[in-house]
Amino acid sequence: MSDWIQPGHLFSQHSLNTYLRCQRRFQLTYIERQPWPMPEEEDPRAYQQYLERGTILHHWLVRRHLGIDMEPIVAACEDEELRRWWRAAQEFDDSALPGAEGGGVREAELPVVVSLGEYSLYARYDYVAIGSGVGQTRVGDPRPDVDAVILDWKTLERVPSLRVLRQRVQTRVYLYSLVTAGHVLTGGAPLDPERVEMWYWFANYPEETARIAYSRAAYREDEAWLRALVVEIATRPQDAFALTDDHRECRRCHYRTLCDRAAKGAPGADALDGEDWLQEEIDLAIDMELSLDADVPALEY
Ligand code: SF4
Repeated sequence: MSDWIQPGHLFSQHSLNTYLRCQRRFQLTYIERQPWPMPEEEDPRAYQQYLERGTILHHWLVRRHLGIDMEPIVAACEDEELRRWWRAAQEFDDSALPGAEGGGVREAELPVVVSLGEYSLYARYDYVAIGSGVGQTRVGDPRPDVDAVILDWKTLERVPSLRVLRQRVQTRVYLYSLVTAGHVLTGGAPLDPERVEMWYWFANYPEETARIAYSRAAYREDEAWLRALVVEIATRPQDAFALTDDHRECRRCHYRTLCDRAAKGAPGADALDGEDWLQEEIDLAIDMELSLDADVPALEY
């Protein structure tokens, strides 16, 4: 066991995803907490603006869920892109989610912590909808055979393929965590993985919501994979966190001057499938804010 990742260490979908994409970036970001400026050839304002847009949209959607009238705030916002995202979010039909008949659970920005052997796994759901009468066919519900849906709001510039979305670390961590801790949310009834889905809603492509189904076999597979992965990370010697061999990952990584990985060519020319580091930066920024917010307790099972 390493002496720098202790039992109880809190892993998250973005820290695990970072490790799988680049071990060195995981070490710099989540262990050493190494701040590093954007390389000079990039406009830090554009990066910062995109980061802020994503986090503001999340805050707006959470406040709307709390019943706050957001229209005056949105109307006063001068960022047209952000207002466009907001208008698209208004069009989302949440009557298609479980629990439309009432009596279920509808929660925004819900943090959950589950145990993974000696370590812990943290998930923060943008939105969770659970129907009443878990495990039963609900008459009048538009999704009578689905008990729970995790809804994630994404501000990606491109929509990843369904195959990529299904394999995303976030998809696996979120579905696994919800099934594991689901009985706490339902008041006792366990969630059957076969009746749980994850939906990705895209602010730039609101008509292309992706729905990912789950299964008991996938749940068992995810548990084994996650347990092995956190042990692998926690027992890795500090000097064995390697720089990625995939130089495309370095293109938009702000550590690239530190790693002596100069950007070659324009970003995005052969970018990875719909992903850069921004989405993880947004998730990390929101999690850091939440961890400072004493009013938002993590739900531990
Ligand atoms: S610049 Fe490349 S090698 Fe260095 S941390 Fe970023 S992704 Fe990893």
